[in-house]
Amino acid sequence: MLVEPEVRVEVGIIGGSGLYDPGVVEEAREVKVYTPYGEPSDYIVVGRMGDRKVAFLPRHGRGHRIPPHRINYRANIWALRSLGARWVVSVSAVGSLREDYRPGDFVVPDQFIDMTKRREYSFFDGPRVAHISMADPFCNDLRERIIGAAGRLGIRIHGRGTYICIEGPRFSTRAESRVWRDIFKADIIGMTLVPEVSLACEAQLCYATIAMVTDYDVWAEHPVTAEEVARTMAENVDKAKRLLYELVPRLPEKPVREKCSCCESLKTAVL
Ligand SMILES: [Zn+2]
Repeated sequence: MLVEPEVRVEVGIIGGSGLYDPGVVEEAREVKVYTPYGEPSDYIVVGRMGDRKVAFLPRHGRGHRIPPHRINYRANIWALRSLGARWVVSVSAVGSLREDYRPGDFVVPDQFIDMTKRREYSFFDGPRVAHISMADPFCNDLRERIIGAAGRLGIRIHGRGTYICIEGPRFSTRAESRVWRDIFKADIIGMTLVPEVSLACEAQLCYATIAMVTDYDVWAEHPVTAEEVARTMAENVDKAKRLLYELVPRLPEKPVREKCSCCESLKTAVL
């Protein structure tokens, strides 16, 4: 249920570490959204980017108050869906597990591995039961649009990658990091993709992630200073804002049926 039921958007944007405001949103105002799952991470900024109506939600809340394992992912996805969003662009900071995915690079993952431990993973807690397909967890149409927009801006972006999501809030041990890299063959590592991605799928949203590499994970034994990480993050956030402004206004009002099957993810899933 929504305080202002007249507010309708087309695109949801979930900002990650460092991205607490969406940059250029015209006619911006804040709305508070209530959901059956409790409160989302923060007030939601609604407004326009070009011709698209957008809703922006900082995943950790402004001021980074909520750690990854305490985020109310269900409320966040529910809130964006209840505002009308059919596209959701998620932005998150990640570590790199491979030399050629360098700090400052962007990645649009196409797969994930879930190593989280205790989160609320589903809107279907019974009596309705659903087992959604996760074979291809992201919206391919949205992924391609992100890659295209980054290309037009000359932003270094990798069009594929496996994101391993750990529980956090601690980082990996060296032994764990070697397992993720050498055995699991994951490319990037973070703490927030799961269950955001699968809840978005249950909500039949077209969802993709822009993963911003901030540093090499501990396997690399590259000594990095806090200043280097902070500088990379600041540059990434600036690039992410430019990318969003290149991407979002060009999105069709609604997802294009022939280009993906995200909106039909429940057709074969509900028992
Ligand atoms: Zn889609």
